[in-house]
Amino acid sequence: MKLQITCIPGDGIGPEIVAEAKKVLEKVGQTYGHEMVFEDILMGGASIDVHGVPLTEEAVEKAKAADAVLMGSIGGDTTTSPWYKLPPNLRPEAGLLGIRKALNLFANLRPAYLYPELAAACPLKEKISQAGFDMLIMRELTGGLYFGERRTVEENGVRKAIDTLVYDENEIRRIAVKAFDIARKRRGKVTSVDKANVLDSSRLWRKVVEEVAVGYPDVALEHMLVDNCAMQLVKDPAQFDVILTENMFGDILSDEASMVTGSIGMLASASLNDTKFGLYEPSHGSAPDIAGKDLANPIATVLSAAMMLRYSFDLDREADAVEEAVKQVLKEGYRTGDILSEGCTRVGCRQMGSLLAERIR
Ligand code: NAD
Repeated sequence: MKLQITCIPGDGIGPEIVAEAKKVLEKVGQTYGHEMVFEDILMGGASIDVHGVPLTEEAVEKAKAADAVLMGSIGGDTTTSPWYKLPPNLRPEAGLLGIRKALNLFANLRPAYLYPELAAACPLKEKISQAGFDMLIMRELTGGLYFGERRTVEENGVRKAIDTLVYDENEIRRIAVKAFDIARKRRGKVTSVDKANVLDSSRLWRKVVEEVAVGYPDVALEHMLVDNCAMQLVKDPAQFDVILTENMFGDILSDEASMVTGSIGMLASASLNDTKFGLYEPSHGSAPDIAGKDLANPIATVLSAAMMLRYSFDLDREADAVEEAVKQVLKEGYRTGDILSEGCTRVGCRQMGSLLAERIR
């Protein structure tokens, strides 16, 4: 199979971690007989330096022409970098918002998995963390409160701010379908999170999710109120498989879920549209404090590449091989500085990438 992948190395540690993800993908290609065709585009600060804008039309067109996009990270030190003296619409982050919009990426997926070897980094009590957890948060990314009409007014000398939370049934249905499809590739359970005891938008959410569930008799569906879900994530995270939720609830819950793993350099993510196309990137930022020093952990980006193999190319066996390589390297005791613990072998970004590539079977 020929895999046409547009890469956005970006800023800070971005180019270092993307290089290692490419190394691993090349090895997957050699092992399983696929041709990897990479094309790099500029975005964020790297694009500002060359083109004066964080994202060009030409870059968007190249991303659209690919099967999938693999990204490092964008942005610089927000207090010292000259990029942050520019107006907001010309700063690095505007590039990311621009490409998400241009590619209609409405579904954001963030897995949170606790590797037994990294359990010490988990901030939960041992009796909870020892059960392990492996969940995926599916967050609606282009609707809801963040995109509703908003205004601030003054009435009779009193300032008043209004935000609106709107979802139509089509927006809910398309993300629910994604969640059920992905649950089928995992352990077959969807927890739909809402606030149906208060919000009309949540009551519609619940109805439409139930309608979609009818087409997936092999997937178990449960509903959970968002306040309860926030508690359950720290009380019993092992109960979750796929958590499906709207934009703002997902924003908050996905940060909570990723923080209970305790390891920012390990967290992958994907943003998908209604085709197989997706943009895959680590959940962390561009870490300007360690950029160019061969200190970055490339695993989050490598695991994002595994998600790309699974969700954009349906190459489950190859994605499993990448995830197994990560487990193997951790089992053998290799660690980058951010996940280092006593008795382990410290390696840099490049060596970690090579170790992972060597373990692709
Ligand atoms: P950050 O995630 O870049 O860094 C937070 C801390 O985690 C730092 O100490 C950093 O060294 C460490 N860290 C992050 N990733 C690591 C890795 N792979 N290996 C080892 N250590 C790692 O967050 P920040 O410092 O708040 O943001 C820095 C820049 O990144 C900002 O410009 C911000 O806007 C941008 N950012 C971009 C994205 C994105 O591209 N999607 C996401 C978040 C932040």
